[in-house]
Amino acid sequence: MNVTHDPATYDVIVVGGGPAGATAAHDLAQRGRRVLLLDRAGRIKPCGGAVPPRLVRDFAIPDKLIKARITSARIVAPSARAVDMPIDGGYVAMVDRDEFDEWLRERAAAAGAHRVRGIFGALDRDRDGLAIVRYDAHDGTGYRASARARVVIGADGANSAVARQALPDVPPPPFVSAFHEIVATPEAGFDGTRCDVFYQGRLSPDFYGWIFPHGAQTSVGVGSAVRGFSLRKAVDDLRCGGGLAAAPLIRREGAPIPLRPRRCWDNGRDTVVIGDAAGVVAPASGEGIYYAMASGALAARAADACVSSGDGRELAQVRRRFLREHGRVFFILGVMQRFWYGSDARRERFVRMCADPDVQRLTWEAYMNKRLVRARPGSHLRIFFKDLAHLLGLAPT
Ligand SMILES: Cc1cc2nc3c(=O)[nH]c(=O)nc-3n(C[C@H](O)[C@H](O)[C@H](O)COP(=O)(O)OP(=O)(O)OC[C@H]3O[C@@H](n4cnc5c(N)ncnc54)[C@H](O)[C@@H]3O)c2cc1C
Repeated sequence: MNVTHDPATYDVIVVGGGPAGATAAHDLAQRGRRVLLLDRAGRIKPCGGAVPPRLVRDFAIPDKLIKARITSARIVAPSARAVDMPIDGGYVAMVDRDEFDEWLRERAAAAGAHRVRGIFGALDRDRDGLAIVRYDAHDGTGYRASARARVVIGADGANSAVARQALPDVPPPPFVSAFHEIVATPEAGFDGTRCDVFYQGRLSPDFYGWIFPHGAQTSVGVGSAVRGFSLRKAVDDLRCGGGLAAAPLIRREGAPIPLRPRRCWDNGRDTVVIGDAAGVVAPASGEGIYYAMASGALAARAADACVSSGDGRELAQVRRRFLREHGRVFFILGVMQRFWYGSDARRERFVRMCADPDVQRLTWEAYMNKRLVRARPGSHLRIFFKDLAHLLGLAPT
């Protein structure tokens, strides 16, 4: 049944209620804006769920959402040589995306966002030039609804329909396909405080494989952009090699991980994309939750300014501010991925390099705090020369 209605009017419509959209909606509601948070319900985002302490701090994540605190990583080379990287005084938090995302959406609603379940359909304009978002209500009635707003934020993930419609000339970023299985964590003989990362061409020819414990559940996954590479077989192999062959399967799922920020995130008028829709996942690591939330906070700030001033150019600030803060790290990680993940010989050297205490300290500090820190004078320089020695094959084996 099609019913026509006068669309409700908001300051901002956020499409997608993952970490990016829920953060943007929350911050806008807190700023006193009328905001609609439109999310397609019913699917758990496939994700390893590893997040840094900076995210827990900046976005006030309560302890109850943290299923495990990881205090070391074991990284494994093609030869099976393993290097342990303990985290000195820090941790990696593991969250379950079903609970985590729902909690973020509820927090946005508690702050005043109007939460609606529905599937985004089209982006139009009314006679006054306001954006109209048309969507199918997710209530089984097939009800066609619409709402209008001064600004639309597209936070609808890696296959963003908002980006396709608002930014038709901006090519989508390259991506890796990622696939994981959630299994029940064994009760014995398994270290629930350590995550394992596998740099082995047989498990992933161009990315990596992981085993991330989440308390009662564990995520076992791999990613690759190579067509025809069997992610399922690689996960099978990883489970067998990781002592998880007999662990009961809870669910299996996959999704793309974008690997480069889009070159433009807004249409200069009324729409901006963020999170996976904007391609803001760190290359080499595939870490996207923190960056999605950081881009959500920046989008809320810019959309707020845009609603106040009526100037659509404010929206370009989201990408500019994001890259000012994180562009250097993304660039370095991109170079790292292209070089070190290129062959098993290079992966072997990469793992060997990670045994270095300087490399370990700076890696963890950069990951946990999202800053390139100067922990000790000369550390970066030492690492640069060590890195160079490994690149040139001059380092001792
Ligand atoms: C297998 C895998 C493992 C990963 N592991 C990690 C990890 O360990 N740590 C990490 O930091 N990152 C990880 N990532 C990346 C991370 O999951 C994403 O970067 C992050 O979820 C991006 O958040 P987002 O809010 O931009 O998008 P999403 O989380 O994808 O959220 C998009 C939202 O939009 C909604 N939506 C989509 N289309 C529509 C529509 N048409 N209408 C209405 N709503 C819609 C969806 O329901 C969803 O709620 C992993 C990704 C994959 C695939």
